[in-house]
Amino acid sequence: MKSTINASPDTDVLITNATIITGAFLPVIEDGAILIGGGKILATGSSQSLRSQYPKIKTINANGFIIIPGLFNTHTHVSLGFFRGLGHGKSNMIESFLFPAEKSLTPELLEPLSFSYIFDGLRAGVTSFVDHYYFSEGIGRAFEKFGVRAWIGETVADLGGAFSGRDSWDRAKNLIEKSSFGPLIRHVVSPHAADTVSPALLKECADYARTNNLTLHMHLSQTQGELDRVQARDHLTAVEAAHKAGALGPRSLVVHLTSASAKDLKIIKDSGATIGYCPTSTLIYDRLANIRLMHDLDIPLAIGTDCAASHDSADSLGEIKIAGLFARHQGVETSKLSPDHLLAMATTIPAAVLGASKELGTLEAGKQADLVFLKKSLSAEPCKNPLANVIYSMGARDVEHVMINGKWALWNRSLPTLDHDQLAAQYLGAVNEIQRRIKTSLKSDLGPTKV
Ligand SMILES: [Zn+2]
Repeated sequence: MKSTINASPDTDVLITNATIITGAFLPVIEDGAILIGGGKILATGSSQSLRSQYPKIKTINANGFIIIPGLFNTHTHVSLGFFRGLGHGKSNMIESFLFPAEKSLTPELLEPLSFSYIFDGLRAGVTSFVDHYYFSEGIGRAFEKFGVRAWIGETVADLGGAFSGRDSWDRAKNLIEKSSFGPLIRHVVSPHAADTVSPALLKECADYARTNNLTLHMHLSQTQGELDRVQARDHLTAVEAAHKAGALGPRSLVVHLTSASAKDLKIIKDSGATIGYCPTSTLIYDRLANIRLMHDLDIPLAIGTDCAASHDSADSLGEIKIAGLFARHQGVETSKLSPDHLLAMATTIPAAVLGASKELGTLEAGKQADLVFLKKSLSAEPCKNPLANVIYSMGARDVEHVMINGKWALWNRSLPTLDHDQLAAQYLGAVNEIQRRIKTSLKSDLGPTKV
């Protein structure tokens, strides 16, 4: 079949002849069209109808493409791409491997170190990242360079972690209050975890997020070590400690919950918080999340991939497929695992916890123009249920073009405005530098460091 978008990148356009999946639990428009102007979706409908209504608008023929809403990756540490391939087979990976290794990072390395994971996500249809890391100004600059949306959070910790100290909270507030980023970059408040942040500082973070209408994004109940330390300190579970500090609510994105009890998950449910769910990471960690109970309680799950230490790819589309298959294995009712439920994990649920439901998550008039174009081919035919095909038969490899805010961020799987080879050279230069430093500090853990 013929797949043609014969136009040079432009923004005020009428995209026609595509199969349009307008969103989770929303209609699919066969032979559909989308009118884009000023970075927004102005109208959707049948090609015939929009062509007759807007005869003078430049048309892009998207015959042979399925268009889906831009995807979210709701939990990343994009600058840790250099861990790719190194985290596998490490027992107690977070505390014995990741924390010591990341101490070798310095602020100037963070921007180039982010390039690979962002590019990987973009080529998987990720248009919005939610990132959590130290020295995140450089990470924000990297997102901006790629023309990708991101909610960045400066990691805050005063009781542990690579760059622990009260100054981490000062850095976080400074980044938010003196933000010099454009409209694609927004902020979240990112305490690291219940054990690495003192109850008083966690309360400050929660109060600040609430007062400033920001999402609070934190790891929670991700390891047995975290549980033990919080229990010894507060005589509470990690979830109970977060609840007591006021860190759980409808704008809370709490990540992993791999060590959460049934009682903990009930607290999460009652608080209205969303779980940042990273299926591949949970399969690699020392303990599986109680995914069946999360589904039984109907807790909103927003998909993420964490970092290359526990997941080598930023592919949200692949991750919702794994989420569906893993949940089936865990005995979750199939009625809760439709393709629409899975798409919601990467679109409308993340948009809601970020306070962006009116702007993002679906392809409807008035929303920002974040569109992912997947190229149909013989390998995905017949295509009787396009969304099921996108999740189960197709994947990141079929993402051909990506539009963010009405601009092409990916065109023919390439970066239309950036020099790929130059980015790769900068990234690998930073990787080589960090590998040199890690080799010195963690030789016995990492083994050969060939890049
Ligand atoms: Zn994480």
